[in-house]
Amino acid sequence: MAYDPDNIFARILNGEIPCDKVYEDDQVLAFNDHNPQRPVHVLVIPKGEYVSFDDFSANASEAEIAAFTRAVGRIARDLGIAETGYRLLANTGPHGGQEVPHYHVHIFGGAPVGPMVSG
Ligand code: AMP
Repeated sequence: MAYDPDNIFARILNGEIPCDKVYEDDQVLAFNDHNPQRPVHVLVIPKGEYVSFDDFSANASEAEIAAFTRAVGRIARDLGIAETGYRLLANTGPHGGQEVPHYHVHIFGGAPVGPMVSG
């Protein structure tokens, strides 16, 4: 699947659409999900144009992957949920239920997240 430069997260990255920013560095942006499913629900996205986890894991540089992984952990610690715990989720493709075609990781926390998979 080719990257769609008009997807909603691309438009957040280029400043067309505002977001409730939680964290930013030269490789990564994180913001609150506008439809939170738990007290903490943050989306972490790489600034590079990657459609999904599949694309990112295959095509991102080692530096991008390292920066992204470090940022996710740092954001969770900064949000104060590392001790109580949290869940990371990367919906990938149609069967994964991915809606926005720019790679992102959800961080859920601040309360028990519940069963791993429902339905
Ligand atoms: P998914 O692609 O299924 O992993 O989820 C996309 C997530 O992006 C959903 O949880 C949406 O609530 C969230 N979302 C979509 N548009 C925005 C936006 N403009 N600002 C914040 N969150 C968004």
